[in-house]
Amino acid sequence: MQLRIPGPTPVPEEILGAQTKQMINHRGKEFTALIRKITEQLKGCFQTKGDVLILTASGTAGMEAAVVNTLSPGDPVLAVTIGAFGERFADIAQRYGADVRRLAFEWGHPADPEAIRGALKAAPDIRAVLVTHNETSTGVTNDLESISKVVKEFDKLILVDAVSSIGSIDLPTDRWQCDVVVTGSQKGWMTPPGLSMVSMNERAWQAYDKAKMPRFYLDLGKARKFYDEKGQTPWTPAVSTFYAMSAALDMIEKETLPKIFERHSRTARAAREGVKSLGLKLFPQEAYASNTVTAIHGPDGVDVKKLLQILREDHGVVLSGGQGKLEGKIFRIGHLGWVSEADIEEVVKAVEAALPGARA
Ligand code: PMP
Repeated sequence: MQLRIPGPTPVPEEILGAQTKQMINHRGKEFTALIRKITEQLKGCFQTKGDVLILTASGTAGMEAAVVNTLSPGDPVLAVTIGAFGERFADIAQRYGADVRRLAFEWGHPADPEAIRGALKAAPDIRAVLVTHNETSTGVTNDLESISKVVKEFDKLILVDAVSSIGSIDLPTDRWQCDVVVTGSQKGWMTPPGLSMVSMNERAWQAYDKAKMPRFYLDLGKARKFYDEKGQTPWTPAVSTFYAMSAALDMIEKETLPKIFERHSRTARAAREGVKSLGLKLFPQEAYASNTVTAIHGPDGVDVKKLLQILREDHGVVLSGGQGKLEGKIFRIGHLGWVSEADIEEVVKAVEAALPGARA
């Protein structure tokens, strides 16, 4: 089976094997050594000297942690949205009582830094900007470097959903002055679901000191205190997923980040060129097409659901459909984590073979 959805992603055998180890005391020395090693490696991958906290939770909890640890009810927030996950980030902030102002761009397009500049100019009371680095629902990667520059011109906090990018697409957290960056273990990290990793810089901790949104399980100050003082997590961690993450980070270190980014770029190009060679059309504006997920228009006369079913049942290839308003309209190939050009060439061949059967 080729699992080519944008997460959970396939897990290499040696990482799967690492998970089968016996439990250890999460309040003992062995766990402390494990979390310290992983955290240092993650800081390298996040390209940050700030803190990286590991939550036993999915990516959405990391997004929620970003919001509740830096903001207070009533805070005006600019939510830049280019798809379903940008909307989710805005929804979370709204649910906790932030005064959310949405700056929405057409799905398939990136956010325009100029428009963000305009919005920040028009509303000087904004405290933070929420933004998605890589919008998995539309297959678009935002120009986060430019966006962050604009946000910092206005000296605002920037909270970044990098769930499907960091570790696979370059995101130099410190250089781009990203205050909070969030990801999840089941994406480019070649690890099973279960962990969310969140970075916090000094600026984010200053916001934490004033933030009044309710938080308990996701209190990052508590996570930092336990990590710094004891080398532990406040609550019972998903120990097996920590084992897996440790093995994955060793693989990542061996391959090196630049080579990983390059491999994702080559693999994504193979996906784009491959589907275009079949006469299919990319959903996103191509200059901003993601290196971790390719979104493709369902061609006229093709039942996308049926296409996915044929791919799954007859070709052993599992792809994703569209989310929200894109359901039935697009399909998506995930190519993040443990993936090569050869894998994607097989996927393209399978799509070619499956298409005739999916025509109405
Ligand atoms: N943001 C983005 C960009 C994502 O791709 C995802 C997962 N597809 C999430 C947030 C949510 O992560 P999770 O499903 O792990 O909660």
